[in-house]
Amino acid sequence: MAVERTLSIIKPDGVERNLIGKVVARFEEEGLAPVAMRMVHLSKKEAEGFYAVHAERPFFDSLVQFMTRSPVVVMVLEGDDAIARNREIMGATNPEEADEGTLRALYASGIEENTVHGSDSPENAAKEIKYFFSDVQVFSRA
Ligand code: ADP
Ligand code: MG
Repeated sequence: MAVERTLSIIKPDGVERNLIGKVVARFEEEGLAPVAMRMVHLSKKEAEGFYAVHAERPFFDSLVQFMTRSPVVVMVLEGDDAIARNREIMGATNPEEADEGTLRALYASGIEENTVHGSDSPENAAKEIKYFFSDVQVFSRA
């Protein structure tokens, strides 16, 4: 298994409901170590840029409005197989379809307000990490 890095976001609904500690604790317990972290209130432009692949989806405007509603926590997680492991820990996009015990099954209130984001491939992880962090802001703990 290779050590990887992935981008994780605790979305506005997670921050608003004081779930930062619980989410970060879960990642640490599962062997995904934060190696960069900050809070940011995304502008409309920043949220649109981040979710550009979804620009043609019917839920795009609503998603951008949700993601800019209040601050989010952006972080880079490092660990074995971090990209896939993070997706497993998060659970399916729709919390009703998420496996028991996953973050979305535990905390998400709907398919849009689903508490966490995680990169879905090595290419997107690299792109998304770069979107929020410069090289010198990302540490290594492997
Ligand atoms: P994931 O975050 O699991 O990778 P997607 O990349 O498909 O899911 O979608 C990005 C985000 O857009 C989701 O996490 C969710 O916040 C929102 N979203 C996805 N599908 C819908 C939908 N049908 N209605 C409203 N929001 C959605
Ligand atoms: Mg996605």
